[in-house]
Amino acid sequence: MSDQALETVSEISALRKLVASRRQQGATIGFVPTMGALHAGHTSLIEAAGADCDFVVVSIYVNPTQFGPDEDFERYPRVLEQDLAKCAAAGANLVWTPDTSIMYPDGYSTDVTVKALSRILEGATRTNHFQGVTTIVTKLLLSCLPDIAYFGAKDFQQQAIIRRMCLDLNIPVEIKTCPIIRDTDGLALSSRNAYLSAEEREAGLSLSRALRLAQEKVAAGETDIAQIKAAMQQLLNATPLLKLDYATIADPTTLEDISTVQSEMVALIAARVGTTRLIDNCQLAPAATEKT
Ligand code: AMP
Repeated sequence: MSDQALETVSEISALRKLVASRRQQGATIGFVPTMGALHAGHTSLIEAAGADCDFVVVSIYVNPTQFGPDEDFERYPRVLEQDLAKCAAAGANLVWTPDTSIMYPDGYSTDVTVKALSRILEGATRTNHFQGVTTIVTKLLLSCLPDIAYFGAKDFQQQAIIRRMCLDLNIPVEIKTCPIIRDTDGLALSSRNAYLSAEEREAGLSLSRALRLAQEKVAAGETDIAQIKAAMQQLLNATPLLKLDYATIADPTTLEDISTVQSEMVALIAARVGTTRLIDNCQLAPAATEKT
């Protein structure tokens, strides 16, 4: 962990100056974009950045353009003082808190869109969500110019889209995806879990249970993808208070549904519990074929 005091900036010019001076001293720069309301999932990314890089920048910005008109932009938790303490404890060196007048200046009219990948799965329900994400992440990366940027596997589609975007736009930043951090009961940590009542939280546990079921089936040698999907869907559809959106198995790069077992696969689930949308996923490793 760094022994230097945590610095905070809001202007892009101040961010660039600090990053440039550290880079001139030979430091490698790690960057963790967040919307705040930090939990152990976020701090795991900051720690991963600290393990790889000499100087760790965290951005905290609740990006309006990735929220739909009926989503929770207004009530999204904003707890900056607590977030700064967590960033310091996790070893961040600099927290950047841009405001909307900087990120979306008057007359703003430019978007970044990753086409096919943004329309499926989450994108099928949350129209324009990923366009908001890719636009803001492009702006954050161009402002910070890190060597490595860290994203959570929790938002699996998001990291796949950002990888595609950096390839397509030749953005010279390495993207690292870090494992999902879960509560002891299996629920993937999310800032939105705070919205769940006790009963809703119990219902939410079905997501990780369904993923475990898929993992067990694949590890036991099940090769019928339709059967595995049906088992996940059955478990989720039998859960009171839970409204399933999708439970599918896809290729981890293209996120296209697959129908036969392949060496790398990801199971992805989205469901609504009350007014809260929950997502979760896991990689699936087929049973090793026995050598004769
Ligand atoms: P957010 O503040 O929701 O935009 O998330 C910021 C980053 O934290 C994203 O890269 C997320 O994927 C990541 N993240 C959120 N929850 C988790 C989690 N439970 N485990 C690992 N990473 C996470």
